[in-house]
Amino acid sequence: TPRDIVTDVAKAIEAQNATIGAYLSWDVEKALAEADKADLSQPLGGIPIGIKDNINVTGEPCTCGSKMLAENYKAPYDAGAITKLRGAGAVPFGRLNMDEFAMGSSTENSALGVTRNPRDLDRIPGGSSGGSAAAVAGNLAIATLGSDTGGSIRQPAAFCGCVGIKPTYGRVSRYGLVAFASSLDQIGPITKTVEDAAILLNHLCGKDLRDSTSLDVNVPDFTSGLGRDIKGLRVGLPKEYFISGIHAGVSARVNDAIKKLESLGAIPVEISLPHTDVGVSTYYIIAPAEASANLARFDGVRYGHRSSDAKDLMEHYMMSREEGFGPEVKRRILLGTYVLSSGYYDAYYIKAQRARTLIRQDFEKAFENVDVIVSPTSPAPAHKFGELKEDPLAAYLEDIFTIPVNLAGLPGISIPCGTAEEGGKQLPVGLQIIGRPLDEVTLLRVADAFE
Ligand code: GLN
Repeated sequence: TPRDIVTDVAKAIEAQNATIGAYLSWDVEKALAEADKADLSQPLGGIPIGIKDNINVTGEPCTCGSKMLAENYKAPYDAGAITKLRGAGAVPFGRLNMDEFAMGSSTENSALGVTRNPRDLDRIPGGSSGGSAAAVAGNLAIATLGSDTGGSIRQPAAFCGCVGIKPTYGRVSRYGLVAFASSLDQIGPITKTVEDAAILLNHLCGKDLRDSTSLDVNVPDFTSGLGRDIKGLRVGLPKEYFISGIHAGVSARVNDAIKKLESLGAIPVEISLPHTDVGVSTYYIIAPAEASANLARFDGVRYGHRSSDAKDLMEHYMMSREEGFGPEVKRRILLGTYVLSSGYYDAYYIKAQRARTLIRQDFEKAFENVDVIVSPTSPAPAHKFGELKEDPLAAYLEDIFTIPVNLAGLPGISIPCGTAEEGGKQLPVGLQIIGRPLDEVTLLRVADAFE
């Protein structure tokens, strides 16, 4: 029964969360009450789904991994994605740790606790949806929701050995997802199997009138390509993505994966995405620019942390933000404010928008000749704690393969493709598959054939 399932998941959380740290909070009584009302004839009837702590669920915390929202914010409404999941009978259960406001790649930027990689407890789970991936990998959840602005679903899925899909921009409503960079953010599932990802996607997508960027397009049955062969499908290998500097074990596994796809009948085709080298710098202008505007709402007046020591209104704003935000969030706000300021706007922001168009056009051209594109998800397997935190620039550069997908608005999935040796351990490697806009069906078909 749904009650048994929720009880089992709750037991796993209670036994293991002290070690893994995937969840920030969970309300068993509320989930059991909802499970008891679940309609088993529904496709997800009574299935508990863990939720990243930046997606609003009525009455629950939504901390975004930040001190800013940790003290007193309770969500007054359900996000669009949650309404959809509930419509299919699912029960949102538990709030998952994340880098503060989704800024980061290791979950170490959370102000609220450490999340460990269940595959090696000395290592990060990736991020920013680190809690969402660690919960699935550690069997503390059946499936979870994450959000992906520059790789935050795919990279933690890769580091933890899970499946994670970022749908085409506009597929899933962003209503009720606390905005980081609105033109890049998408919600998507992290699961154990490609089939689970396809099933969840079936119940997440669709037009939402409360998000003007959500697309009013047909939602196909995302499971329809599963179990089909991939004979004759053309698989693009971007020459700019197969470069030196990639971890040897990651390269080896991705090359094995390409051979496997070939043995299944797919045709590898070398392609070029010539603007790959400006992807990261373009993202680190556009994302902070949008973030600096989105985070202006945290002013200590309407929501979140309010400084108790301020003497006047200006101090009230400044001290509330000084106390509420962590260092990475402040770094992004400063960067964003700078690139939007008069005098620099044309030199940085407008130029980045132009570069973004070139990156999108690279993909359009490539997709004239191939059906999907494959690459490593991340150039290295999961790092030890501290390695990315100490060097923010190195952390930014590691998003080289995932960021262009967000800039171009394309769907991308990470699936496990074996392990690589690092520091005496075997660590999961992720294979990224990128699809044409709105062609998640082909993406999932290739992922499933590979799996
Ligand atoms: N690591 C990237 C960043 O720090 C992407 C994060 C994300 O996708 N939310 O911005």
